[in-house]
Amino acid sequence: MSQLEAYFSRGDANASALIYDMYKNGAYLESWDENLDFNLYEKIAGKLNIDIEKEASREFDVDDKLPWDDINYGVDKSWLYAEYEKAKKAVSTVPCEVKCNNCGVCRNLKTRKVLSV
Ligand code: SF4
Repeated sequence: MSQLEAYFSRGDANASALIYDMYKNGAYLESWDENLDFNLYEKIAGKLNIDIEKEASREFDVDDKLPWDDINYGVDKSWLYAEYEKAKKAVSTVPCEVKCNNCGVCRNLKTRKVLSV
């Protein structure tokens, strides 16, 4: 189950084909252990040329295009990378309710921080 969760959380557009073909082959409530048929996942993934294990554990380089790069959530990728480097050194970031960290959201989404309504 963890391998499937990793695959779907990092998967590209091919993940939707796997979900749809699983559905067409009777998969239902697969996140429940008693319903999980991993052999069926492997069979369908094989037909789609998807290597679940490989994709679930694939390492991304900093410059790689990520599967979720097409989703505009406003945060600058360079800011995320800087946060990643800080996290490796166990350096925390002050929450933006306290101080703007210039993550890009307000600029990119043309919004502003609202602390209360
Ligand atoms: S105030 Fe806006 S730009 Fe600043 S850290 Fe918060 S979300 Fe990002």
